[in-house]
Amino acid sequence: MKIAFFDAHGFEKAIFEKANQDFHHDISFFEARLTAKTANLATGYPCVCAFVNDNLNDKTLESLAAGGTRLIALRSAGFNHVDLTAAHRLGLKVVRVPEYSPHAVAEHAVALILTLNRKIHRAYNRVREGNFSLDGLVGFDLKAKTVGVIGTGRIGSVLAKIMRGFECEVIAYDLVQNPELIELGVRYLSLEELLKKSDIISLHVPLTPQTRYLINEKALSLTKSKVMLINTSRGALIETRALIQALKSGHVGQAGLDVYEEEEGLFFTDLSDQILQDDQLARLLTFPNVLLTSHQAFLTEEALAKIALVTLQNILDFKNGKNLLNEVHAQTHLIK
Ligand code: NAD
Repeated sequence: MKIAFFDAHGFEKAIFEKANQDFHHDISFFEARLTAKTANLATGYPCVCAFVNDNLNDKTLESLAAGGTRLIALRSAGFNHVDLTAAHRLGLKVVRVPEYSPHAVAEHAVALILTLNRKIHRAYNRVREGNFSLDGLVGFDLKAKTVGVIGTGRIGSVLAKIMRGFECEVIAYDLVQNPELIELGVRYLSLEELLKKSDIISLHVPLTPQTRYLINEKALSLTKSKVMLINTSRGALIETRALIQALKSGHVGQAGLDVYEEEEGLFFTDLSDQILQDDQLARLLTFPNVLLTSHQAFLTEEALAKIALVTLQNILDFKNGKNLLNEVHAQTHLIK
């Protein structure tokens, strides 16, 4: 099938080309992000393959449908960047990769926790400059600390298990309780209780109208002083303005962010020779106790290989008129 592959990056191209040796799709890689302005690149392509920072709003989808596109193959788990109602109205099918490696993302959350706590990011720079002082690098034992996991689906449950391995007390909040975690000693609490009790809070719910700004000024006011906040899910779960205030006042002790609410157009791109225009992001980058990564939690060899395999299989299933196992329906939006 002819595929217009948007927002193509070096880290994924070779992996898709290799996986495609078994599928024989006709892939055109476009570096451009998919937006209403670039959608015309896909004219004549029945399939468009999109990534997390492509913008599939109604205008983009209308343009794609007019150009003959019938399938949107997301090479991501999250689908908050797609207007599913518009896709449904236009007769566009949407498929995704619901699970590729929950371990990749959960392990990145752990990397953020350990790095922030033991200040490895600062130690790395210091030592390279011949500064062997330890002042300002004091961390804390993770053992017996309380970790609050918000969202215990695929990724959150892996994180909960890893943190139990560190002998942390793990508490959780989700609409649905996971019995396997309860068996391991994880306690489900209300969101408010979790916010009040946690030393570390890690976010693993999808971005939906219900979860947007879940961590806002009010939620932050309930958290323990010096709480560590980790977000590897979606940027807009946190109201950045409120987080910056809480960091400035010292109430939030540390923040590890793999995602940012305005990351579209910034993350995944080398902007090192440009002036950063986003003042909130620029402010976040000034805090020594904030660690930002550029939406890379998924970035392991295993995850990339599975993303390529499942995406190309989703497309083949569509081409062959098979049942689409990984289809995203408009109503999924209400529960995800
Ligand atoms: P999942 O669907 O397996 O789990 C999500 C959990 O959130 C479910 O248990 C669900 O019940 C719960 N939930 C949904 N809405 C809720 C609400 N309003 N209140 C409380 N709980 C709610 O998803 P997952 O595979 O664990 O992924 C979680 C998120 O991680 C994805 O939606 C995506 O945004 C993000 N993600 C990020 C990266 C990255 O590279 N940073 C990679 C993959 C996924």
